Amino acid sequence: MEDLPQIASDIARQFARLSRSLARADASGALPAQGVLQPPFGNLELSDWVRAMHLWREHGAAFIRDQPARACPACGQTDHRFLFYSFDSYPYVDCLGCGTWYVPLVVDDQLFERYYAACPEAREIVERLAGQRLDESKAQADRTRMSVYFSEIEPIVPAGRRDLLDVGCGVGHSLEVAESRGWRAYGIDSSESLIRAGRARGLTVVHPDERLDRDEFGLISLWETLEHLNDPFTVLSGVVPRLHDDGLVSITVPNAFAIEARIMRQDLAWINGGAIGTVHINLFHKSSLERLLSRVGLEIVGVDGEFGFNARELASYFLGGHRGAWDYARGVRVEPKLSEETICFLNWVGPAWSILARQLLVTPIIKVLAAKRRDAIALASIRAKYARARRDEMIAELDRVYPPE
Ligand SMILES: [Zn+2]
Repeated sequence: MEDLPQIASDIARQFARLSRSLARADASGALPAQGVLQPPFGNLELSDWVRAMHLWREHGAAFIRDQPARACPACGQTDHRFLFYSFDSYPYVDCLGCGTWYVPLVVDDQLFERYYAACPEAREIVERLAGQRLDESKAQADRTRMSVYFSEIEPIVPAGRRDLLDVGCGVGHSLEVAESRGWRAYGIDSSESLIRAGRARGLTVVHPDERLDRDEFGLISLWETLEHLNDPFTVLSGVVPRLHDDGLVSITVPNAFAIEARIMRQDLAWINGGAIGTVHINLFHKSSLERLLSRVGLEIVGVDGEFGFNARELASYFLGGHRGAWDYARGVRVEPKLSEETICFLNWVGPAWSILARQLLVTPIIKVLAAKRRDAIALASIRAKYARARRDEMIAELDRVYPPE
């Protein structure tokens, strides 16, 4: 074990060295081009998103005021404190039982059907969106990400259990990746247009009300799904009985403990209830997911952070350069205009901080692996295997970016 006080003191000295060099540097030279900040909506054209947001604020936001109340999606309690209205006008509260941030109102398909009837242009945007999701460059980014998930999970799933049920499978990129790796893949989605798009490509996708022709799965995934659901407990209760006794459940969700969520709150682009369908109405973190999963008989066996934060966005928000989602939604081009000192700091310290954020689970996304409650030895062995792989990966990344002296 290295001497932690010594490392801390070295870091302080290095920070002092950095400040001294920055103070002495000639800052009169031209700053490097910094580009334009983009909100994180990889599957939606920015112009469509801006238009959808405008329509929602104009015609849709009033629809949520009269919606019935909803309890905490993780622990089921109703005691909460008000946090803020998101930039798309949804109220968000903090559950006093478990700390989940959520919209305390029912937000579902019926709400949006009523909205689309009043605003047909919003429906046209949704239909265009389904087509954009099949765009090859966007699809490829999705498949690359899914491949990483499979390479992490495959060493832990028992041999002979390569049957996937992906809940909220969208257009089915996860199913394609699974099949290309030798899995049998099944998907569930509630959107008729996405089901049609998946089936047209030969994938097995069903509506939640339809019957699946398979009873048990070695892996059930909910990749960026739970945050969209009005009632995650009921959905999980419906699928967990189909998990094989030694199978695994893999979940990714936006993280309520992400640094940018805590700093930017209602100005953060990914804290939005939705202008063309339900978006992030539930913001979980590790222990609130633990509460939810324990209600359906699951235990967490591995947890990890995914993606570094957007340091340029956060720095320019912090330094008063832009208003986060408020600017994006108005279609304003956001050029960060950071000082030379700030750019230097972000470039050199950013990668180390991103890995630290992963260790501390304050990244924008958290990944959770869960298993059915069973004998402690079996679960401990999965935990150890997952933790070892995660630790080795982080050390390798640190060694790559900052080679040890
Ligand atoms: Zn709760």
